[in-house]
Amino acid sequence: MNKQKQKYNIWTIGCQMNTADSRHLANCLEGFGYEFTDNADEANLVVLNTCVVRASAENKVNGKLQYMQGLKKHRPEIKIALMGCFVGRGKNTALREQFPFVDIFLPPSDISPIIEHLDEFAPPREQQEEPPLSCTSKMNDSGHLALPASAGNAVSANVPAVLGCSHACTYCIIPYRRGREHSRPRTEILKEVRSLTLQGVKEIILLGQIVDRYGADSDSEYDLADLLRDTAAIDGVERVRFLTSHPGYMTDRIISAIAEEEKICPHFELPCQSGSDKILTQMRRGYTADEFSRLVSNIRRRIPSAAINTDIIVGFPGETDAHFIESYRLAEELRFDTIHIAKYSPRPQTYAARHLPDNVPEEEKERRRKMLDNLQNTILTENNALLLGKTVDVLVDGKTRKNQRWRGRTPQNKIVFFEDSSNQLGQIVSVKIKWTGPFSMIGNKI
Ligand code: SAH
Repeated sequence: MNKQKQKYNIWTIGCQMNTADSRHLANCLEGFGYEFTDNADEANLVVLNTCVVRASAENKVNGKLQYMQGLKKHRPEIKIALMGCFVGRGKNTALREQFPFVDIFLPPSDISPIIEHLDEFAPPREQQEEPPLSCTSKMNDSGHLALPASAGNAVSANVPAVLGCSHACTYCIIPYRRGREHSRPRTEILKEVRSLTLQGVKEIILLGQIVDRYGADSDSEYDLADLLRDTAAIDGVERVRFLTSHPGYMTDRIISAIAEEEKICPHFELPCQSGSDKILTQMRRGYTADEFSRLVSNIRRRIPSAAINTDIIVGFPGETDAHFIESYRLAEELRFDTIHIAKYSPRPQTYAARHLPDNVPEEEKERRRKMLDNLQNTILTENNALLLGKTVDVLVDGKTRKNQRWRGRTPQNKIVFFEDSSNQLGQIVSVKIKWTGPFSMIGNKI
């Protein structure tokens, strides 16, 4: 009898939520006897976990689909699954017609369609070494979630807390693809965290499009502050992070939890998107630049060590040079620790794509992106230089490609490299910084 295991490959792009969904799927597939391969060409099942937040991401997905179409011609027995925001939550009739070689379509954060089909795809039962785990729930009942080494970094794990988004920022496609906001029950989240720690995970990253709205869709008072504290209290959890926060929902209770509980990292992902009130209104973000600045000051007053990262979109419809300069000045004034800069990209279904002409030329978007990028290089270089000679605690999550140095992150999520001949993976190590650059630092273990 052929004992060879069925092989799966998952290609993932996009946000941390996709990474979490891929891990969850990988875990279930392994429970069903599948084995990971990093080579799609030799897999029996290939999953494309997709993103469409900007046209550039969608183009990558289309390229990958073309490749898969070729592969399917050579190996018609291969099963192809398409999941994530390229798919969305509807019936996908048009997608099914456009990509007839795709066997199965999965909405974001819902792997049940693939699990329902596994019997068709899977090897005969006797080839499975263990009974399949229960995968229709987010966790199996034994509380043991076999985290496949192949599914990513085992030191740190993304755990979805809020699924979907109901905010409808005018540029954003995510609500149309991920559906309405829905907070996962805390019991389910904490159970998943416990099982991850049993697998050696040290750092939990609680996820949501607007994670600081955790619980807002339920009657209970239990909020992100409670969830952060309860997560940090679980045995084996060394660090807790959370992303992404909407400035309008960041509360003093959440800030207090971070200030008071050492294991909750002083690291905020707090997108401002623009420094211009006119553009913020057009984006339907629900706050002014001044309110945003006051929130940042409040966080820094309560937690002086906090790292505050942000997202800025350049070239939103109607953004004049003067509006852009307001974003630039805000970045200069608030000295963010990282700015994720995106050039505006019109997305189907969104209000902006339907009603606001994409009237900033590409060269101008690129010029604005570069200006902000140069500013952030200068600020990050200066910020990190302040750490020269200081000792920081890093949680080690891997090695550099050439395998020379260990890589870890500070509580502020800054990357630090150091050398050591023994295995440091998963350890929290004190490192004295001897070199700093804008995006990483090097130090000596002490
Ligand atoms: N809800 C999360 C994630 C949104 S997507 C948040 O608020 O951050 C991540 C980032 O992509 C956004 O913050 C925004 O800066 C950027 N983005 C979203 N839609 C975009 C679009 N149409 N064009 C350019 N950037 C976009």
